[in-house]
Amino acid sequence: MNIGEKSQSNSPRGKLVIISGPSGVGKSTCVRQLLKQCGLPLELSVSATTRPIRPGETNGKEYNFMSLKEFERLESEGAFLETAEVFGVGHKYGTLHSVVTSGLDEGKWIILEIDVIGAAEVLKQYPETISIFIYQSIEEIEKRLRGRNTEPEEVIQRRLAVASSELEVKDIYLHQVINHTVEHTADQICQLLQEACPDCQESNSKAESEN
Ligand code: 5GP
Repeated sequence: MNIGEKSQSNSPRGKLVIISGPSGVGKSTCVRQLLKQCGLPLELSVSATTRPIRPGETNGKEYNFMSLKEFERLESEGAFLETAEVFGVGHKYGTLHSVVTSGLDEGKWIILEIDVIGAAEVLKQYPETISIFIYQSIEEIEKRLRGRNTEPEEVIQRRLAVASSELEVKDIYLHQVINHTVEHTADQICQLLQEACPDCQESNSKAESEN
């Protein structure tokens, strides 16, 4: 079934939204804020990953954390819409078909917070996907990565190199947004999404006036 078709319940199918940006750019914080402040039926897709769980993370919430063996089993069964080895060594990430399909069937706008390789793969399969690239200067990204204090120097260096190459491909995205402040960035993205769905804007303002 194509993204624009009706779901089994005959309600309009949801939309697929990609949000990418270099690691350290504040993308996850912007997405969390977007989910809080934007009146659309947004839902964040929970990806699978083989990277180790970080302090403060919960399995099934930020990611479905799994072994490489489990990931490769799912891959061989064709369970993924896209996968990528995000930092060149070791850790794989992937979007499960099941997560996306069930959300779209329920009329949700499914946000894929994925890297540029995964994004290119999804755009090839679903060109109608709304794609947004959040970015900052490489100096700002370095400051944030160091401030997080969660990764060793070697990982920071690798992420900075990846960030530079990701900045080079931002033009494959429909929209590019500079992250100055979280609220403003979330607001800008919300507006872009609402413009992509004039009917949603209308029903949102109707709902607001009825409240
Ligand atoms: P982190 O390990 O810091 O949570 O995420 C690292 C990077 O992996 C982020 O840039 C994020 O966009 C990307 N990522 C997370 N989930 C997926 C996924 O399912 N597919 C792809 N291709 N990239 C992902």
